[in-house]
Amino acid sequence: IVYEGVSLYNVFLEVYEMTNYIAKSKNINLTYEFDDKSIVVFANRDYIKQVFLNLIDNAIKYTPENQGKTVKVSVGTKQDKIIIKVKDEGIGIPKEDINRIFERFYRVDKARSKEVGGTGLGLAIIKHIVKSLGGTIEVKSELRHGSEFIVNIPEKISFK
Ligand code: ATP
Ligand code: MG
Repeated sequence: IVYEGVSLYNVFLEVYEMTNYIAKSKNINLTYEFDDKSIVVFANRDYIKQVFLNLIDNAIKYTPENQGKTVKVSVGTKQDKIIIKVKDEGIGIPKEDINRIFERFYRVDKARSKEVGGTGLGLAIIKHIVKSLGGTIEVKSELRHGSEFIVNIPEKISFK
């Protein structure tokens, strides 16, 4: 595994290009706000890419099409932390499932997720990556209204 200086903005743009056409095909607006485009973290590039990709993929996947919904990605810094947020206006996550979605192979209600593909690994992988960076991931969600995933990573792994 190669560790190098990874530009968050650069990696994000790559993921944006990969996912924006899926969002467009569902008539979902994929928007973003990047406070600091110069953030560089010392990490593995593919790991960082996975974090953006899996969160944005979920946000698009669990948002209904053709309803003018928005998925918003924001990246910024706060005190000594880099904060990545991915917020959607999708189906949301039931309270009774919220503590289990980071487990391997866990998917909420097979009926609702059967039409969208997936193995239930995305969030487990992200959790593992974020932990390896010394960070945390949390989720806020309201059923039928949407979800927000918040990743914190310590700024001490970054430089400018
Ligand atoms: P994979 O990521 O392996 O393709 P997946 O998307 O089902 O499959 P995870 O990304 O680990 O797996 O997510 C686990 C479960 O959490 C999903 O099946 C879904 O039920 C729920 N979930 C994750 N993200 C969201 C979201 N943004 N909105 C609503 N439910 C979500
Ligand atoms: Mg997923």
